This record gives sequence, C-alpha cells and structure tokens, in this order.
Amino acid sequence: MHELTRHSINGIAFWRDDDLLAQSGITVAFSERTGGVSAPPYESLDLAAHVGDDPAAVEENRTRFLAALGLAGLQPRLTCAEQVHGTGIERVTEGLVGSGRSALAHTRPALAGIDALYTALRDTPLMLFFADCVPVVLVRPSVPAIAVVHAGWRGAIAGIVGDAARSLMALGGGSDLMTFTGAHIGECCYEVSDNLLSQFRSRFATLTPVCGRLDLAAAVAEDLVRAGVPMESQRRLDMCTADNTDRFFSYRAEEALTGRHCAIAAISGASF
Ligand SMILES: [Zn+2]
Repeated sequence: MHELTRHSINGIAFWRDDDLLAQSGITVAFSERTGGVSAPPYESLDLAAHVGDDPAAVEENRTRFLAALGLAGLQPRLTCAEQVHGTGIERVTEGLVGSGRSALAHTRPALAGIDALYTALRDTPLMLFFADCVPVVLVRPSVPAIAVVHAGWRGAIAGIVGDAARSLMALGGGSDLMTFTGAHIGECCYEVSDNLLSQFRSRFATLTPVCGRLDLAAAVAEDLVRAGVPMESQRRLDMCTADNTDRFFSYRAEEALTGRHCAIAAISGASF
C-alpha cells in the first residue's frame, strides 16, 4: 500500500513513500522545515534560492536534505524550475539536468517560466519549492517516470496538475499513474475573494461551498480525476502549512517573509 511515512534523520524531518522506494527505486518525498542552518526568518531547512536567504545556507540545506534521503551523490544532477505561478511544463532531458541545482555562482539557472518538471532520466532529482502552494508528485513506475508540480491557485485553476498527468501518460507504459499531494495551506486557512471562489466552483464541480475559503487540494484532485487518475490512486498529506509553522513554511501565516520546503522525486539508477 502506498502511503507517506514521516522520518526524522539528524533533525531533518520529511515524508516519503517507503514502499514505492523499496519496490521500484523511486523516491517521492516532502520536506519539513527543521534540521537546516538558515537563520530567521528562513529557519531552518530553507531549500529555495530565490527568497533572499544566504545562498551558502541554502546550499548546505540541500546537501543535508539529499543526504538524509540517501541521494547525496545526486546533488550535481538536482534540477529545479523558476516557478512563476504559470502553466509551463518542461520535460527534463540530459541537456537540462542540473538547472538551478545551486544557489552559488557558475551554475545553470532554474528553468525559466516553468512550474512543472517531468523526466524519465534516472539519478535526476526534480525539486520544487513551496510555502502554502500545493506540491504534487506524479509517478509512473512502469516507465519509470516522475513529475513534480507547483500549484498555487493560478496553476490549479488552469489545470497544470492534470496537464502534468497527461504528459506522463504520453510516455507510454501501463495505467499505473499515482500521485502524492504534500502539505499546503488548507481550506481552514485559505481565505479568498468571492469572485475567485466562484471561478473555482464553475470549473470544479466537487468543491463544497464553504464561505470565503478555498480547498485547493480538492480542485487538484478533481483535475487529476479528469485526467484519468482515480481518487484511489491519489495520496494526500492532509496537513495545513499555515496551522503548522513550526514544521512547514507558510507565506500567508508568516507575512510573506519565510523559506520554502520542497517536493522531490528521483528514479534510482540501480536496476529494480
Ligand atoms: Zn489551516
């Protein structure tokens, strides 16, 4: 059974599907915010290079996090996207590997204008960054192939998660797509305008009417069902970032100045 299990290694807490890793060599994980070296307001495992944190601290945090996952040797192949709340999806081919891997100088920048990455390359960790937006990892063990998606409200309403699912399905193989949704701002804390709420309700029929609040994960789940991913193939970590700022970064709860946790996926180079 595929479930996310919480681990804590050297103070670094993360959630991972251990069965998937054991069975197919595919890592799917979501980080928390502890165990890093960043100073406030980025304390402490800030993994993002674009939010004003000390680049050396971000580099050290990435090193520690990859080591905790057993992926230490893959840091040179870590691949990241710019994340502009758009709908851009990029397939990571060999020439793009390592984009945005480091906050320090002399490395290729994160892939511009992109909010979702996917690949069938082995030993190529895809990592995106979050503080309230919805992190989604998609996996096709039969290919094998992986995708990581950043879905704020703009991406969610535009259907970026369903589009990423269709991109993975286009790679052939069996009907084995499974998805994992990490911690994000919950309906409990995500107040939006009536106008935005009505836009979402007109697009996503399953959204339950709750006055002034939006359930982004429900919209993402419906988008995935439409793309051909049944609910039983979707896993969700139902934790609200804004209610748990001791464990996650929250853009809204921390008044915009904070770090980023991550979603990461990687296919092991070893044969399974
Ligand atoms: Zn909440």
